[in-house]
Amino acid sequence: MPSSQSSSTSSSISSPPISSPISFGELGLCIELVTTVTEKGYASASPIQQHAIPTVLNGRDVIAIAQTGTGKTASFSLPILQLLANTSPAKPNCIKALIVAPTRELAAQVAKNVESYSEGMNIRSTAVFGGVRIEPQKFELAQGLDILIATPGRLVDLYKQGDINFEHIEMLVLDEADRMLDLGFVEHIHFIQSLLPKQRQTLLFSATFSKEIKALAATMLNKPVTIELATAHDHIENITQILHPVDKERKHELVIHLLKSNDWSQVLVFTRTKRGADELRNELEAMGIAAESIHANRTQHARTQALDGFRDGSLKVLIGTDLAARGIDIQQLPCVINVDLPFVPEDYIHRIGRTGRASSKGLAISLYSDDETKQLRSIERLTGRQFKKTFISEFTPKPKPPAVKKDKIEENLYGNFEAFDKPSGKKKSKGRKKRR
Ligand code: AMP
Repeated sequence: MPSSQSSSTSSSISSPPISSPISFGELGLCIELVTTVTEKGYASASPIQQHAIPTVLNGRDVIAIAQTGTGKTASFSLPILQLLANTSPAKPNCIKALIVAPTRELAAQVAKNVESYSEGMNIRSTAVFGGVRIEPQKFELAQGLDILIATPGRLVDLYKQGDINFEHIEMLVLDEADRMLDLGFVEHIHFIQSLLPKQRQTLLFSATFSKEIKALAATMLNKPVTIELATAHDHIENITQILHPVDKERKHELVIHLLKSNDWSQVLVFTRTKRGADELRNELEAMGIAAESIHANRTQHARTQALDGFRDGSLKVLIGTDLAARGIDIQQLPCVINVDLPFVPEDYIHRIGRTGRASSKGLAISLYSDDETKQLRSIERLTGRQFKKTFISEFTPKPKPPAVKKDKIEENLYGNFEAFDKPSGKKKSKGRKKRR
């Protein structure tokens, strides 16, 4: 049963990790769901699932600090499916469980998981996000849904157009809540919250447990159980991190060199800008390397096609910006390349976390130019490790001109000026001419 959303005095229980394998059957899930996950090859529940599934089944609110790759989607989807199984169908335009995700890709991925976990159950679910036609989404909503997965912008649009009734929501999930705050969706979240029934169960998933997340949780959750397990830092232990110094203007050339001289089956490449992603894609394609870019300026169709190609292995290189590539779940991705170091150091962890999944070894290569010292220092502070610079002989950066003192520069400038514009003829007198 949903818990009552009442007080601002939410208490929390921190849960220590459970280390021994636990089967899904031991977590209180029904036989249909246990069979489904077993058929998917999930041998035992991951740590986040071990804690979250029984807690959600007990009706408690949950704050879970977990990244993509930890099995977090199943940790909220499975108990939600169980709680909704055998309930009466949702009324037109009503929904019972709402999952809010920051990006279209994550919303689509969560929806795919929910759909596959609910196979054979009488559950209606769909995803709504921007960048695609709104009419089919309105049609789905009109029939009522057990589970709606949505990005904040499209969700608010659909509400304002009268297509969603939030009054019967029993469960709310905020997935990657920290990312939603980073992307400036805080107003949307509070707006949506103001429309929801107070009596509901709320689950908040976040990769980081920042002040802002704690503040958001305090306004939205009721006496939550806090589950703080595998941190990003634990996960990156599986990943070999390499830093190649290179001149900024030669970074794309170095990416091509790395792709040609290594036998990686697939590589995810991060760039800071959308333009950088497109330029690199064009350069790779010109060299005969199958590559695609995903970022906010590409159509949803192009983004989905690129992701599908990457997932089925037909696309060797996917180039993305932080926003678009966040939350991409690809099994066995051998290598991630950072063309630029991100300004937000946490993004570095999220980027490299795409490799080295499920205890396999991963490789993260970062190209570093001398204008990125600040970003490098921030990443080193966050990860608590100092990068060793690995030089590639053909790409060793040109030596920088020695730093010159200011008065010296002025002298040189004057020298140059003189060389091109020497006063001709008479010498200038040193003093002021005396007036006669
Ligand atoms: P997520 O953290 O939800 O993005 O999940 C990452 C990947 O782990 C997905 O491909 C899931 O299908 C997979 N997965 C989730 N739970 C388990 C499990 N208990 N055992 C094996 N794989 C799992």
